[in-house]
Amino acid sequence: MKILVLNCGSSSVKYQLINTETQVAMAKGLVSRIGMADSVLTHKPWDRPEIKVSAEILDHIAAIEFVVSMLLSPNHGVIKDKSEIEAVGHRVVHGGEEFKDSVLITPELMSHLRALIELAPLHNPHNIRGINACQKTLPNIPQVAVFDTAFHCNMPTHAFIYGIPYLFYKRYGIRRYGFHGTSHKFVSDRAAAMLGKPLKDLKLITCHLGNGASVAAVNCGVSIDTSMGFTPLEGLLMGTRSGDLDPAIILHIMAREELSLHEGNTMLNKHSGLAGISGVSSDMREIIDAANKGNENSKLALEVYCYRLKKYIGAYVAALGGVDAIVFTAGVGENSAPVRSLTCQGMEFFGISINEEKNKVAVSKEMDISADGAKVRTLVVPTNEELVIAIDTQRLAKGN
Ligand code: ADP
Repeated sequence: MKILVLNCGSSSVKYQLINTETQVAMAKGLVSRIGMADSVLTHKPWDRPEIKVSAEILDHIAAIEFVVSMLLSPNHGVIKDKSEIEAVGHRVVHGGEEFKDSVLITPELMSHLRALIELAPLHNPHNIRGINACQKTLPNIPQVAVFDTAFHCNMPTHAFIYGIPYLFYKRYGIRRYGFHGTSHKFVSDRAAAMLGKPLKDLKLITCHLGNGASVAAVNCGVSIDTSMGFTPLEGLLMGTRSGDLDPAIILHIMAREELSLHEGNTMLNKHSGLAGISGVSSDMREIIDAANKGNENSKLALEVYCYRLKKYIGAYVAALGGVDAIVFTAGVGENSAPVRSLTCQGMEFFGISINEEKNKVAVSKEMDISADGAKVRTLVVPTNEELVIAIDTQRLAKGN
């Protein structure tokens, strides 16, 4: 099946057209700056160079129409007729407690999705906008919602309850949900294949290190704990998000700086993390460059980033009662030898030890970078969240 996979943000739409038979992305791209006069579409057919087109794209409907026209374009397209797109898979960030698996989108389901906006006001409204836009641009084909939270839905209660009055869990659904589920699931499956063992016999710690970052403890294929919580703000230090901090700090800064709720939110989500500590960038490549040139705050940001991750790995070894493999994935995890090296240093005690030569050449490819004889394997696994979404979409579109 040819499936259009969409990830709709507030002013962007990321897309891939995936052929599920070959598991190859026929084309991929990004519409950015939606709603502004200088929107940009970047489009890459699998067999031709990337192109960039500027246009005025006022909303998500116009963005998806533009994407479809690009997929059909005689010069840059990969299909001849719109009807070749057989289904659409949407990444939906929050599925709450209700959605433990992907679902076929129906009018009734939309009201359930709208009810979840309260849990993820920064993400779900844009996902819903994308679904509505597709219903107009690509009517009469199945659309499926694939949730970032679903893979974590079997976490034990003691891992998802916070230390605040229990009534807030009952009243507002305040609990750990976890995110990046499609990625943690994909790399867990690949890790089992690389190790030549069934997933049900493995204890894995999967580190998804992209702009957002999270780590998961995966026992026998089930996520039993993860670092992101009620929202994607908790846990590791990220590009622009703070990750874990003493909750009283938020109240203190908001009071001292007289910040509104919106400003407090923006400070924690957009001006913190690597960007906040370094004052240089949210991009790990630029942080490492600056650190190498002697920028002290960039060096500090890198150290805090890796130290946090190391602490989570230690905690999850304890939660799992041991570990067979540590898996690094996403932009930083797949590409950054210094981050993997700094994170794994000093964990020989656990049996975690990497081969620096292998680590250096492990760039965007599946590789076992463990030192010879290390008890715990350390793996680099490129993630493919879009493929997970496409495969789930196919399953539901076919009525399974
Ligand atoms: P997203 O969360 O947006 O999907 P990605 O998984 O693509 O993000 O990760 C993006 C991040 O990956 C960038 O911000 C950058 O910091 C990091 N990255 C990409 N390549 C490298 C590299 N060679 N070295 C270090 N970091 C990298």
